[in-house]
Amino acid sequence: MKHAKKLIILILVSSIIINLELRFVTDNNYVLLNLKVENEAFTSLQLDITPDSADRNAQRLGMSKGEIILIALMMNNYSVNDDILDKLDKRVCVRNKNRLMHFNGEEFEFYTNVIDSLIIDMEYFPVARSKTRKTWVEYEDSWGNERTYGGKRTHEGCDIMSEENKRGVMPVIAASGGTVTNLGWLELGGWRIGITSDNGIYYYYAHLDSYADNMAEGTKIRKGQLIGYMGDSGYSKVEGTVGKFNVHLHFGIYIYVDGKETALNPYYLLKNISNKILYYQY
Ligand SMILES: [Zn+2]
Repeated sequence: MKHAKKLIILILVSSIIINLELRFVTDNNYVLLNLKVENEAFTSLQLDITPDSADRNAQRLGMSKGEIILIALMMNNYSVNDDILDKLDKRVCVRNKNRLMHFNGEEFEFYTNVIDSLIIDMEYFPVARSKTRKTWVEYEDSWGNERTYGGKRTHEGCDIMSEENKRGVMPVIAASGGTVTNLGWLELGGWRIGITSDNGIYYYYAHLDSYADNMAEGTKIRKGQLIGYMGDSGYSKVEGTVGKFNVHLHFGIYIYVDGKETALNPYYLLKNISNKILYYQY
């Protein structure tokens, strides 16, 4: 009888210890995941979230949007949607934030900043819509798809295709404000504009048919400002080459990590603002 009691206590105590240990291990598993941008999973940025949900949950959890989204990404295999944000528990978030700050402080700060900046920067869908035309655009997640022109490479952006397939018709507008840091012909991108936001994120608009008036390097750009017209320029060393593919806007997003240019997947960020459309007359 005495032995049986001892045995029961022993089993109880060891099961508690095993349980604690397991919990500690599972917690650490995601906390210590590779918080590096070289991690292709991170760079594919699967953020399927509405601005409202990011606002609401950041307030509820008492953290910045970047912090809750980064923690949610790491806890959910780098894929986050509104539902996941709504279910985040405050205690778990605080614990994970503390651990991330402790183990990966600098990187945690850097990437929460990147996510916050992306959300603040991107306000308008980069193509303006017409009130009179029925045709619009279509786009899909083509991140990492194979491209062959100019050697084997992968697709580093999102192609927003014109349903009309007519160059020089659809207005391309600035998704985010900032300063024009690149303008002119590129073999791959054709006539392109690069705009760097005040938060240091680089937004790349390629294959344009023409530029809006007064576009030059150094020009300040407002969110939603007309920057050019959608086209099919590029895929040649010869400036002005058009027609090598269907009319579309190639939209890219780049950040700088230790001075190295690194592409992020714009697809979900575009999808999240797909109802933030400006109407132009055309
Ligand atoms: Zn493209």
